[in-house]
Amino acid sequence: MDNIEKLAEIIKNSERIVFFGGAGVSTESGIPDFRSTDGLYHQKWAYPPETILSHTFFVKHTDEFYRFYHEKMDCTKAKPNYAHIYLAKLEKEGKLSAVVTQNIDGLHQAAGSKNVYELHGSVHRNYCTKCRKFFDGEYIFSSEGVPKCDACGGLIKPDVVLYEESLDGNTINGAVKAISNADTLIIGGTSLTVYPANGFVNYFNGKNLVIINKSPTQMDKKADLMIAQNIGEVFSEVDRLK
Ligand code: ZN
Repeated sequence: MDNIEKLAEIIKNSERIVFFGGAGVSTESGIPDFRSTDGLYHQKWAYPPETILSHTFFVKHTDEFYRFYHEKMDCTKAKPNYAHIYLAKLEKEGKLSAVVTQNIDGLHQAAGSKNVYELHGSVHRNYCTKCRKFFDGEYIFSSEGVPKCDACGGLIKPDVVLYEESLDGNTINGAVKAISNADTLIIGGTSLTVYPANGFVNYFNGKNLVIINKSPTQMDKKADLMIAQNIGEVFSEVDRLK
């Protein structure tokens, strides 16, 4: 049995799969991985991206924050790839209980997934810092410069967890609960080096730990199955086996 057949077998025999995904899930949709060699970390800006995308920078240099945000973070036109589509299908079939993601592009929901825990928030949700009015991603990315609330003129902030900000408590609780109830945990497109990814995985006490990632991760020794391939590729091969 090769790895793809093994994964298909695991999925077939599971009822509460949780998928934990990182940047690698979205790179096939054309969204750059912050930490990959051709990702944002290696592009030239006056400040490194982790400085620009920090809470302090947002408050002090809102103009420059939004200049970067508009140019680099607009994923409103990206389309789900096979990984997103296959996971939505598994949820629909009643085999997958939740997706936990570190991505902020909303592509799991665009593919049809319902139960998604977005650890780092979403570019599709934005709030007025004064009156809390809600705005979608379209409003932010089509606005010139710093987006302002059309009701009160207040500054709008993306519901994205910036550096120095803490994760949302309800999202953490939901993700932890889903992972601890899972019979299979599939980790994909993340090297698990970014906090808090590694911590979440420790809550898993189900049967099958599967890792799909092109490069080695810290958890490989614990994994029941490790597949070093693109995640969209893996899922399309698994799907074709049926
Ligand atoms: Zn407002």
